[in-house]
Amino acid sequence: MISKIEKIRQQVIVCKKCELCKYRTNAVPGKGNFNADLFFIGEAPGRSEDRLGEPFVGVAGKKLSIAFEHAGISRDEVYITNVVKCRPPKNRVPKEDEEKACQKYLKSEIDLIKPKIICIMGNTAYRSLLGGNNILKNRGKIIKKNGNLYFLSVHPAAIIYNQALMSTLKKDMKSLVKTLNRLNEG
Ligand code: SF4
Repeated sequence: MISKIEKIRQQVIVCKKCELCKYRTNAVPGKGNFNADLFFIGEAPGRSEDRLGEPFVGVAGKKLSIAFEHAGISRDEVYITNVVKCRPPKNRVPKEDEEKACQKYLKSEIDLIKPKIICIMGNTAYRSLLGGNNILKNRGKIIKKNGNLYFLSVHPAAIIYNQALMSTLKKDMKSLVKTLNRLNEG
């Protein structure tokens, strides 16, 4: 299994399936625990992630870490990835054809890790995976689809522009952990 995830990593690093490959410094494969119960999906790498080749290591990543800490989640026990693995120019929202081109990597990550809950962070992941919109209205909800369990939350980058969302993210992470605990208790 580790070798299968590593294979995806290697494919992402050299991938040229969409035009985002032209703008990247580094592609950013998912990272984390291959046996994770919790699997987090954001939108796309930002500037720091593009520079370092790792997901959620910039300002948004720090916000996410704060919310994780608040809920008692360790980064070592979860898996974190994005809808697209290369940074769109000026952090624009990924285009549909880019999301489509990158979809097979995300699907393989989910299929291999088989998390108990997939946490959707933000509108892009919500639309791309579940066809939803208005994450602010729907955050905190749990959705079952195609055998997977999804939990909806805000994207940590949104906190940069709206500080009030920090408490929303913290609250959601606590609720996510409670949901996981309930599942584990059967
Ligand atoms: S965004 Fe995805 S599909 Fe596009 S080049 Fe990067 S890894 Fe490949």
